[in-house]
Parts: sequence; structure tokens; C-alpha cells
Amino acid sequence: MKIVILLGAPGSGKGTVAGKLASEHASMKHVSSGDLLRGAIAKGTAAGLEAKGYMEKGNLVPDALIATMIKDVVAETEGDVTMLLDGFPRNLAQAKILEEMGAPVTGAVLIDVPDSIIQDRIAGRRTCPKCKAGYHVRNLPPKVEGVCDNCGEALVIRKDDNPETVKDRLVVYHQQTEPLISYYSGKGMLKKVDGTTGVDNVVKAFLEAM
Ligand code: AMP
Repeated sequence: MKIVILLGAPGSGKGTVAGKLASEHASMKHVSSGDLLRGAIAKGTAAGLEAKGYMEKGNLVPDALIATMIKDVVAETEGDVTMLLDGFPRNLAQAKILEEMGAPVTGAVLIDVPDSIIQDRIAGRRTCPKCKAGYHVRNLPPKVEGVCDNCGEALVIRKDDNPETVKDRLVVYHQQTEPLISYYSGKGMLKKVDGTTGVDNVVKAFLEAM
């Protein structure tokens, strides 16, 4: 197994790129920390109950809570798999936890999108609550409005995608997650792709970078 970390602001397209790559390559596995947390909330687990309040405010959940979930997924992943790790690590402490786990991280790829574009992207974002596929009302619409192409479920707007919470999530990103760019760059592990060139081009550039 090897792990490639996806870096980028909320709405930069990490989930879209990783989801598309995983659906096209049997050897790739998309692991989204946000989806793990939303899954725990939906199941009503103790971790989910603890995470809910932080997420609804756009704050990060405690490091130990999400690190335990990631550790479990890493432990259960075997064989010739490339894990596309989306949303973890989210700060320097989590990057160190990942290293202490002995996780085989081979690189990090930043999907670069300016804040001015992020707000509009998240405002138009629609998500499938069942299979987790992501859409955008203009840039990546489903075939039938409001319905998931993959599984036919009704699409929803994520609770934390409202404009006020998005502002808070961007502040958290710049303060806590952005330092990871120089962290991985300093280790010679960072590649950067332009996240504004359309889904297919970003996926292609990402694949080349990793
Ligand atoms: P995402 O789906 O990656 O945008 O994550 C949604 C929310 O889940 C974030 O705004 C955080 O509240 C929480 N979250 C996801 N990943 C992490 C993480 N690695 N550390 C702390 N909180 C996280």
C-alpha cells in the first residue's frame, strides 16, 4: 500500500478528483476524513456525536478522534493499493501522527484554487448522502437535476456548506492546514496542480503529479 495526500482548501475539488480516480482505477482507494466523520454522525456513534458540534461550526474535530478513524482504515487496507487520503492530515500535529503510525506516505499533491472561486463552488455544491458522489449545479451537474447519477438518491446540500460556515472553514484552512504546504514541500514531497482548469484536466494533472 502507498498513500498520496490531497491538499487544498474546502471546495478545491479533492473529493471530486479522488472519487473519479478511484472509480476509474481498481488499485486506488478514496479515503475522505469528512465522509468518515459524516458516516459516524449518521450511525450515531459516540465519535459521531462528539464530532457533530465542531463540524457544524466549521471547526476541526479533535486530532485524536479523527486519527483513530484513519488508523483503522490504514490498518485494514492491504495489498497493492494507492490510498488517496482526502482531508487528513489537516494540521501539523496530524501530519506527525501519520508519520508516527508508520503510514507509507509517498507524496502530497496540492489542488490550488483561489478563495474567490471557492465561495461560488461551495454555494453550488450538491452531495449524494448515499454513495458520496459530489456535483455542482453549473460546473458538474447530474444528468437529472437533484438526483445522483450513480445511485438515484436525492442530492443534498451539506450542513456546513452554508456561506457563513464556509467563511469559517476557509479561515481554519489558512491558519491550520496551509502550513502543511511548506511542511511537505520542505521534505521534497509536494507537487502542485492548478485546480481551476475543469475536472478532467485537474484529474489528468493530478495523476501525472502523483
Ligand atoms: P471535509 O468533508 O473534508 O470538508 O470535512 C468536513 C468537516 O469535517 C471539516 O470542516 C471538519 O470539521 C471535519 N474534518 C474533516 N477532516 C478532519 C481532520 N483531518 N481533522 C479535523 N477535522 C476534520
